Amino acid sequence: MAEHFVTEPLSGWGRFPVERCNVYRPESRRQLTAILESGAQPSLISFGLGRSYGDAPLNSQEGVICHTRLNRLLAFDAQSGVLECEAGVSLAEILQYFLPRGFFLSVTPGTKFVTVGGAIAADVHGKNHHQDGTFGNFVLDFKLLTPKGETISCSPNNNFELFWATHGGMGLTGIILSARIKLRPVESAWALVDYQKATNLEDALERMTESDIRYQYSVAWIDCLASGRHMGRAVLMRGNHAPAKELPRRIRRPLSQPPHRHWTLPFDFPSMALNSFTVRAFNSLYYGTHRSAARQLIDLDTFFYPLDAIYHWNRMYGRRGFVQYQVALPLDGGLEGLKVVLARLARSRRASFLAVLKRLGMPNPGLLSFPIQGYTLALDLPVNRGLVPLLHELDRVVLSYGGRVYLAKDAVMTSQSFAAMYPKLEQFRAVKRKVDPQGLLSSSQARRLAIVEK
Ligand SMILES: Cc1cc2nc3c(=O)[nH]c(=O)nc-3n(C[C@H](O)[C@H](O)[C@H](O)COP(=O)(O)OP(=O)(O)OC[C@H]3O[C@@H](n4cnc5c(N)ncnc54)[C@H](O)[C@@H]3O)c2cc1C
Repeated sequence: MAEHFVTEPLSGWGRFPVERCNVYRPESRRQLTAILESGAQPSLISFGLGRSYGDAPLNSQEGVICHTRLNRLLAFDAQSGVLECEAGVSLAEILQYFLPRGFFLSVTPGTKFVTVGGAIAADVHGKNHHQDGTFGNFVLDFKLLTPKGETISCSPNNNFELFWATHGGMGLTGIILSARIKLRPVESAWALVDYQKATNLEDALERMTESDIRYQYSVAWIDCLASGRHMGRAVLMRGNHAPAKELPRRIRRPLSQPPHRHWTLPFDFPSMALNSFTVRAFNSLYYGTHRSAARQLIDLDTFFYPLDAIYHWNRMYGRRGFVQYQVALPLDGGLEGLKVVLARLARSRRASFLAVLKRLGMPNPGLLSFPIQGYTLALDLPVNRGLVPLLHELDRVVLSYGGRVYLAKDAVMTSQSFAAMYPKLEQFRAVKRKVDPQGLLSSSQARRLAIVEK
């Protein structure tokens, strides 16, 4: 029975917060519509693979629709690289079928375990934002099931406003049923990557600004515990897809990935395992062992998804979970803002062993889409006493530099900060009122941030 749900504890990837939700797992559109029409829940929200970190796909004590059984590939045109699929298809599934046929994703986040619906709803970006923009730039159109039970086709030429409200709209404008997305033709399953060390944040950003144009993909790992003149020392990892003719002869099948070993973290680490001492040791090792090196041949899985090799790596942060704090800061004043954030964090003696810095290119018309032209920094911080007030303080710093927090990672922001960071919020609310006048689509995050009325 489609209308059956199971009440279970649910969380995003950060495992904070954990909330009891009424979870449906429909297997067909008919079942999906029946859930919507049943009126059994005061509100509903879609859930992809739960790779957003906080409460965006959660709905405490109310309905959650899990999309992973609605995952059929529908059509593919090998000439244009356009794939039509249901929203529950994961990027991992797309790669599994289409990389051996010479196609990669046009934009991919740092994990392939996200659904197409989740990628659209968060309007995800990757290492190529400075060149190509977000996932939304490669969505030709999608079908949206609205709370009124209508299926609306949205594209840049058809229902423009709804199209761009849904990109980054965190599931609040409708249920994405299927989408047509453009894949990127590639000659191999490999990238040629340059590694460069930067002595501090300025050095890292200067190098990126000067030469990112040569790289389709660019990202930097930064040591957020280094201080003084080494604050923000970094390892830059920048590369391009490897043409088949540049592969060594030992690689006989250019489009095959080498076999990978996967590990599973079998249990929660004790909460104290990641502290400023262990992270400092890790950071010194990481910075020390990486050498500047040009044209390293790295398979795409290793380059794009290093963490996917360890299943349940989020258990490393212990039972209380963690928050990924990801902010975007504009070109103008952004460097200063990043320094203030890093300095405040260092003073708090909190350490993120995963600190990632990227450049962001031009934004798109997405009403709640995250990227603005400038820089983005992402830090993983274990949940413990004092974290939430600290993040609220950092939010105010980010805001004072004209920046914003990424909704796909957010778990604690206040509605005031959110409203100040996203100037198109009123426009978004107007679209939502039109398409969902009863406010059926809601989430714990949407209520916390007052995107919807309580
Ligand atoms: C290791 C790791 C690395 C990451 N790296 C990046 C990165 O580089 N760049 C980046 O942008 N993000 C990154 N993310 C975040 C991730 O890409 C996004 O949070 C993405 O939205 C997760 O997709 P999901 O399918 O798991 O969706 P969920 O997390 O389950 O849901 C996310 C949002 O999408 C909505 N949604 C899901 N399916 C549908 C649907 N069918 N219809 C309507 N709404 C829907 C949900 O309601 C929710 O609001 C990373 C996450 C992890 C864990």
